[in-house]
Amino acid sequence: MSFGGWQGWSTSARKQAKQTNEDRFWKQVQAQTNGCWEWQGALDKDGYGAFNHQNEDGTWSIKKCHRYSLEIKLGRQFGGQANHTCDNRKCCNPHHLYEGTQLENMRDARQRSRIGTSTRERVRALLMLEHGFLQREVAEEFGVGQSTISKWSKRDGN
Ligand SMILES: [Zn+2]
Repeated sequence: MSFGGWQGWSTSARKQAKQTNEDRFWKQVQAQTNGCWEWQGALDKDGYGAFNHQNEDGTWSIKKCHRYSLEIKLGRQFGGQANHTCDNRKCCNPHHLYEGTQLENMRDARQRSRIGTSTRERVRALLMLEHGFLQREVAEEFGVGQSTISKWSKRDGN
């Protein structure tokens, strides 16, 4: 898969380093049949792609891949968050990304936390129990009471 269309945006010598970053970046992105362009490299603790970006002063910093993709698309840095329309954290397809306002971010975060508590976190909690963690330890991990964990494990255990 070629991402040649994204090249040629940076022409000045000052942006030469950026060009190299972009080359390295797109090489680690693979288009999926569902339309998502998934990051093949390292992921951060939240499951977002983590890209080693070389700054103009020669130092390196980790950038979230979807955010970097959106920066390339917009041609600028931005203050808000990079949001997915596809809910695939690994996805770097600029067509699946939009710049969120602070308000949208807060609303989305609230929605995510609701989903998280009801399903994702519960699944994770149960997995931890299966792997021998104590209910007390799992409760600490999720910042809930031990009785909550006990409830989760019973409801799903039957
Ligand atoms: Zn996507």
